[in-house]
Amino acid sequence: MYDYDLLVVGSANADLVIGVERRPAPGETVLGSDLVIHPGGKGANQAVAAARLGARSALLARVGDDANGRLLLESQRAAGVGTAGVLVGGAPTGVALITVDPSGDNSIVVSPGANARLTPADIRAAGSLLEAARVVSTQLEIPLETVTELVRALPAGTRFVLNPSPPQPLPDEILAACDPLVVNEHEARTVLGDAAGDSPEGWARALLALGPRSVVITLGAAGALVADGRKGTSAHVPSLKVDAVDTTGAGDAFTAALAWRLGQGEDLAQAAAFAARVGATAVTRPGAQESYPTAHEVREETRDQAQDQAQDEAQEEARAE
Ligand code: ADP
Repeated sequence: MYDYDLLVVGSANADLVIGVERRPAPGETVLGSDLVIHPGGKGANQAVAAARLGARSALLARVGDDANGRLLLESQRAAGVGTAGVLVGGAPTGVALITVDPSGDNSIVVSPGANARLTPADIRAAGSLLEAARVVSTQLEIPLETVTELVRALPAGTRFVLNPSPPQPLPDEILAACDPLVVNEHEARTVLGDAAGDSPEGWARALLALGPRSVVITLGAAGALVADGRKGTSAHVPSLKVDAVDTTGAGDAFTAALAWRLGQGEDLAQAAAFAARVGATAVTRPGAQESYPTAHEVREETRDQAQDQAQDEAQEEARAE
């Protein structure tokens, strides 16, 4: 028996947001709106997204011994995330300084802070937490050497999900552990480098050839493509048509939902179809963590469309036969 459906190993950041009329030129000062602080970071986002859906989730991360660190711990606890693995101290909490102009364009400076101090030794010291989780997911807002140690320390039988964001070329040892590797278009292109062609189907084939057991490519409003290297199958998972107001954190909600459902025994296409409904619901609301739905909200807000889509697909299949 596992204590946790999902353990997220990753970043926790305070997002400090100021609205500005225009960005300052070098040497210039501009006045902005009141400061708003949101809990963020891909790791913290994923852990909250899974917990909101009803998963038993936990976070292994590092924050500073400061007000931002306490804000992050508090938001994790409020969502029901297990925080015994959140280490405190060593550097200030990671922050993202975000200015947003009236057209909605933003400029961001990230100070990784404590996230950069989540070390391989921290992973080695967290053995019992790793043992307690059915699925472990991570991203690249923590040091790559820490991710490498994580795949070495994974107990046999633990499923590993990686969203390589921000993207960089990955060592074979990490790639081989991914089941699945979850990428958006930009991440797919960076991981593939010169080998990247132009079609998602081509990226999926090329990514599988790098070693992951499975691959999921998220395609924004176009849904996702899933490819299973063991079965040699791939499938397109449609998205739902929604009025997107803010796509911040949609990928984190998608990946968390996917990782959780895979651990519940669903296959890749089923889990991705659920994750796409979660992502679609999240983009209809502003913010990242604030936008994450409960399983009930996902069912309510996407039920009619999911039914229509299933009917359309059944009709199309009938026509094809
Ligand atoms: P990222 O945020 O990492 O760039 P995507 O933009 O591909 O990732 O979004 C992740 C998932 O969220 C998509 O696969 C889709 O299911 C959902 N999603 C994102 N944008 C939209 C949208 N405009 N309409 C419906 N679903 C969306």
